[in-house]
Amino acid sequence: MKLTWQRYDLQLKHIFRISRSAGKITPIVIVILEHEGILGYGEASPSARYGETPDTVEKFLQKIKLQQFDSPFLVEDILHYVDLLAEKNTAAKCAVDIALHDWIGKKLGVPLHTMWGLNPKKTPLCSFTIGIDTVEVIAQKVREAEEFPILKVKVGLENDKEIIDTIRGITDKVIRVDANEGWKSKELALERIKWLQDNNVEFIEQPMPAAQLDDIKWLRDKVNMPIIADESVIRLSDLPILAQAYDGINIKLMKCTGLREAMRMINTARALNMKVMMGCMIESAVGISAAAQLSPLIDFADLDGNVLINNDPFDGIKNEKGALHLSNAIGIGAEPRM
Ligand code: MG
Repeated sequence: MKLTWQRYDLQLKHIFRISRSAGKITPIVIVILEHEGILGYGEASPSARYGETPDTVEKFLQKIKLQQFDSPFLVEDILHYVDLLAEKNTAAKCAVDIALHDWIGKKLGVPLHTMWGLNPKKTPLCSFTIGIDTVEVIAQKVREAEEFPILKVKVGLENDKEIIDTIRGITDKVIRVDANEGWKSKELALERIKWLQDNNVEFIEQPMPAAQLDDIKWLRDKVNMPIIADESVIRLSDLPILAQAYDGINIKLMKCTGLREAMRMINTARALNMKVMMGCMIESAVGISAAAQLSPLIDFADLDGNVLINNDPFDGIKNEKGALHLSNAIGIGAEPRM
């Protein structure tokens, strides 16, 4: 079993701004697992929010010695070993998880959703993300996103109301809002969420910093809008305490170490009566296609990370007007363009 990797810079169509950062290039690391002539592809899209960079990803990958395992089918043993190599490094671990699952699907000749017994018709519609910007650019982005039925709008700076007013002036389609921890006081968060309620918003994601769990509990009792955890939820072990403050969780493969743990998180969230959303970082079709394979199990899909870029090195699960088409392509369903 051989593991190799390559860095790649994803180029965004627009500068992507959220409450804590902005950028036009996202560096990723593509991982290739080779065994018996079959290639499994994986991806790490490291996020500074969780302490990762392309350098930390490569440093972590260098520690992995897969020669000790006879076969990629030993995915439970392999991922347990990988997880114990170092704390955190979740995107790096995720790259290995995706590559293993891709290899297994290809070896068996089935897409992962088929292997898991999931109905591809149950995939929810995917939202299209609008980053923070001037009202002129927001208006332009909303028009560009005309064919997408659901918008996910980033807020959390000074111009929240201006952004929502601008969008509502153009369309009455479903809006979901993500503050990315931007509102630092519970009073401000309460005022903004009440205003969003009046503007027909479906839910609010991560209104306040992850560390302010008691404030979010306070908030939840005062609003009539589901509150979804994103930055608050990283891995499976976070879930029980979050059920006291949130109505749902946003699972991202890059945060939770990959498909295997994501599946466990979905099952645990259901046991805790929580809604499940799957989101993404800015990613290529590798990460997005892998996450899409699980999407028949979720309530909300926010898997548009590769729709926002213009140089995706992979061809994967198609997003047509927000519909993710889980095809018969084997493994994760993504192949290199070259
Ligand atoms: Mg979010």
